[in-house]
Amino acid sequence: SIVTRFAPSPTGFLHIGGGRTALFNWLYARHLGGKFLLRIEDTDRQRSTPEAVDAILKGLKWLGLDWDGEVVYQFARAARHAEVANELLAQGRAYRCYATPEELDAMREAQRAAGQPVRYDGRWRDRDPSEAPAGAPFVVRLKAPQEGETTVVDQVQGSVTVANAQLDDMVMLRADGTPTYMLSVVVDDHDMDITHVIRGDDHLTNTFRQVQLYKAMGWDVPTFAHIPLIHGPDGAKLSKRHGALGVEAYEAMGYLPEAMRNYLLRLGWGHGDEEIIDTARAISLFDIADVGRAPSRFDFVKLANVNGHYLKEATPERLLPAVVPILADKLGRALIAAEEALLLKALPGLQPRAKTLVELAEGALFYFKTRPLALDAKATGLMEKHRDLVSQALTALQAQSDWTAPALEATIRALAEQASAKLGDLAQPLRAALSGTSVSPPIFDVLELLGQSEACGRIADALA
Ligand code: GLU
Repeated sequence: SIVTRFAPSPTGFLHIGGGRTALFNWLYARHLGGKFLLRIEDTDRQRSTPEAVDAILKGLKWLGLDWDGEVVYQFARAARHAEVANELLAQGRAYRCYATPEELDAMREAQRAAGQPVRYDGRWRDRDPSEAPAGAPFVVRLKAPQEGETTVVDQVQGSVTVANAQLDDMVMLRADGTPTYMLSVVVDDHDMDITHVIRGDDHLTNTFRQVQLYKAMGWDVPTFAHIPLIHGPDGAKLSKRHGALGVEAYEAMGYLPEAMRNYLLRLGWGHGDEEIIDTARAISLFDIADVGRAPSRFDFVKLANVNGHYLKEATPERLLPAVVPILADKLGRALIAAEEALLLKALPGLQPRAKTLVELAEGALFYFKTRPLALDAKATGLMEKHRDLVSQALTALQAQSDWTAPALEATIRALAEQASAKLGDLAQPLRAALSGTSVSPPIFDVLELLGQSEACGRIADALA
């Protein structure tokens, strides 16, 4: 059975690229009935913060990406990482390098001056530690093969080969004894029984040295899949303006997690030209083999359309708890139970028009405003134009005994006919009076939901 993992560094929020990497790992594990593990790579003590850890956990939960087992914290495993380096040292597969930082600077300087590639030259590879001054600081380096080549058979990038002569002996333990990222990542992936490493292709160049370390330890090398990074709509590196935000920003903008999953899935993975693929279907279809090699482009318009689809499909019950707080925020007060009940009934009329939860709340706002409503310019214009008709409608509506949408529609239609007017000539100014704007759900539903006294009151206000 397969095991995947998501291994973020907690140095900031869970950004959109990280969310997609997590999603691909999660989908692949769920598709094959394997496990999806979470490892927080908090070895960089300067840059890792508990707030960032919280933001990542919260972001994953919001996205609905549940992980198996306990979260693994990498820093807590430092002793185990050092143990592996020391094991390699004892076997002669690693060595102590006593070169001072000044010495290494000079070495690089000379390489640059000679037009040679800059890399550690292996000067302590075959020297005896007794040649170093007593108590001198040292790092531990992997004694990597110098001949032959290292090949990564990547599920996305294909087979990629590098000559070993191009890879220098990487540092595994720093002079203060702390493990490097390169050591930790390999030891953790091995100890966690990770079978598939799916991550951004910015890690591909690191993979060759990581493979050398697996081989030195005699460990099985996992299957790698390096997925292309997400670019902006213009093809350049993703910027904040183009969507390089934390997932919580998408939550705040009113996107649904199910829409986010669908959208992120399509950033790099496809099934024909299907745009709408819900999570259940994604789990049944997802395969790394179908991840493309070209970088995908982040597109807010597409995201909004996908979100609009899920908003339309969702039940009002599912949307209510998400819309209420946004609406309360816009109104500057809490909603009472009766208002929540009204909102629940109003949602089906609003859902087809909204692209985000924020738009949904904005569309619902007019139901909860207190009289007299302020009419926008377009609404005022409509009222001016058809005053007489509206005034007749008010009289009819005040006398209306059956306050249901179909009965109200019959009344309004009859009235328009009588006046030889078009239905719109009456419906549009009514909409203006009832909502204060020129756009709203079907007017007969609005009338019914507002109730006779509120609806007639709003119309009278607009006529006054
Ligand atoms: N911690 C690394 C990062 O956030 C990921 C390393 C990996 O997936 O192997 O970029």
